[in-house]
Amino acid sequence: MGKLRKLAVVTSGGDAPGMNAAIRALARLAAWNGLEVVGFERGWEGVIENKFMRLDSRAVSGILHLGGTILRTSRCEKFKTREGLEKAAETLAVNDIGGLIVIGGDGSIRGANELSKYTDASIMALPASIDNDVYGTDETIGFDTAVNTALTEINKIRDTAVSHERTFIIEVMGRRRGFLALEVGLTAGAEIILVPEVKFDQEKLYEILRKNAAKGKRSSIIVAAEGIGETRKLAEDIQKNVDTEVRLSVLGYVQRGGSPTARSRMLATLFAEKAIDLLLDGVEGKVIVLQRGEITSITLEEACSKEKPLNVNLLELAEKLAI
Ligand code: ADP
Repeated sequence: MGKLRKLAVVTSGGDAPGMNAAIRALARLAAWNGLEVVGFERGWEGVIENKFMRLDSRAVSGILHLGGTILRTSRCEKFKTREGLEKAAETLAVNDIGGLIVIGGDGSIRGANELSKYTDASIMALPASIDNDVYGTDETIGFDTAVNTALTEINKIRDTAVSHERTFIIEVMGRRRGFLALEVGLTAGAEIILVPEVKFDQEKLYEILRKNAAKGKRSSIIVAAEGIGETRKLAEDIQKNVDTEVRLSVLGYVQRGGSPTARSRMLATLFAEKAIDLLLDGVEGKVIVLQRGEITSITLEEACSKEKPLNVNLLELAEKLAI
């Protein structure tokens, strides 16, 4: 491939706070290095349909503090087909794009890996997801913001839980993985944390609540990932089996939005810097990751071939702390 002249950015899959911080840093660092940058709109759909906007330095003014993504995002089934991938590769070729930076979660990175088999452009992925479920990185862009958003809500709910001596189930996002529930539960001081990765025994859960009441705990917080099953049914079951008043609060989409925390912005900015550096060095096909405090990279292939493990020690720690 010739000298790198032009880059493209795309945000795909679920939005996450800090995506804009990444777009801003990519656009500005590219400009600093004399590269032209465009942003494809609405995720992979824009890459397939060749819809983009110019991302010069001024185009990314005033977005650092905003949640969501100015490029907008989507889920795109067509991108999972050979035809879709070929169309996307063609878009990159006709626009003379030498490097594509994908900002998104686990699914978007799988898409990036597939696309890399069809194009000569170098592809870099920046993990961004409130789920924190991308293999190889200790943290994704947006995760810290979502944890803090959920925590703020739980602090408010705790006021009512304590005043009315109730048990609250708080459902947080996480259909497949429990990283968010685990960190939120631990930092909120939840009595019980339920994650999709670990089967739980409902009888044992009743027992813990009964014991807590006997110990003088007048209220309990249960943080549950949405993927554990029907939380409404669980609330009804507890109500029937334990002498406590139970309420369910589903936090929902508030967890996805909002101004990114300093930490989410920092991660977005440092991931962007690493991606630009690697592209300028002629490196291809990487996911930028945070490992033990260091910004580094792994191959797209590796990120797609393994599942990120949940730190179950933290579940045990939460149990000990709920004594
Ligand atoms: P996230 O990136 O937030 O995990 P999704 O899992 O919905 O969100 O994935 C986002 C998009 O990435 C999908 O709508 C699809 O266009 C693309 N994608 C996901 N998996 C693949 C795959 N195996 N091959 C090609 N594209 C994929």
